[in-house]
Amino acid sequence: MKTAIVSGASRGIGKACAIELAKEGYLVIVNYLNSSEKAQQVVNTISDLGGMAISYKADMSNSKEIKQMTDFVKKTYGGIDLVVANAGIGLNSLLIDTSDAQIKKLIDTNLVGTITLCRECADIMLSRHSGNIIMISSMWGQVGGSCESIYSATKGGIIAFTKALAKELGTNGIRVNCIAPGLIDTDINNNLTPEDKLALIEDIPVGRIGNAQDIANAVVWLQSDKASFVTGQVIAVNGGMII
Ligand code: NAP
Repeated sequence: MKTAIVSGASRGIGKACAIELAKEGYLVIVNYLNSSEKAQQVVNTISDLGGMAISYKADMSNSKEIKQMTDFVKKTYGGIDLVVANAGIGLNSLLIDTSDAQIKKLIDTNLVGTITLCRECADIMLSRHSGNIIMISSMWGQVGGSCESIYSATKGGIIAFTKALAKELGTNGIRVNCIAPGLIDTDINNNLTPEDKLALIEDIPVGRIGNAQDIANAVVWLQSDKASFVTGQVIAVNGGMII
């Protein structure tokens, strides 16, 4: 059976990806940090659909915990076919108001965690000369978001990392891509008021905010053989907000 790790799969985009990938026949490792019950609910939903999943707690800002998780998956299931490096946190703050600790936490979770997870998965994938790596960046990684400069830096870093790693791993049968979501209706945007959302919709050509399923649909396509000639790309799923 194919195995997929989805980091940050207890809620939001990761949850939708985990459920869709289970429908595609993957045994899904539903990674989480704090939301243990929600992660278990994702596992239950997948079981109810006839799929297979386990939840696994590991902090994506901690390289030791990442390695423990990937080692466990290799030992238990024999390998890793797909990783969706999705776990991430946001921060809305003027740069000059941002503390050292906030900067470190954002970079450690969003960028270093993504790089480390991909390194550990790539190491396992290389032994079988096949695999699929999909990272979740952001439209702000493409164009920069005001009051989200550090977040934007982490997501821009993921884009550069995707392009470089795709070149490094392409001849080994491993494709590496990232998705740059636009505004998606998840908890990460709980700071937005309904009025904020209406104002933002005016800047989205398709006239709506995205949902987690929009991103999961792109992940399903990217991991499939229909995308076998696609690597090193940034797939923008943003309703046309950033072109
Ligand atoms: P969300 O609903 O807040 O979910 C975040 C997920 O990440 C949760 O499952 C959370 O797990 C997990 N997580 C956070 N820190 C973690 C850590 N250190 N270790 C392990 N898991 C961790 O956010 P989302 O919107 O689905 O975001 C998912 C990804 O999409 C993020 O990388 C985000 O930057 C990106 N993105 C989102 C949007 C958007 O508008 N929503 C736009 C562009 C990009 P626990 O709850 O278990 O702690």
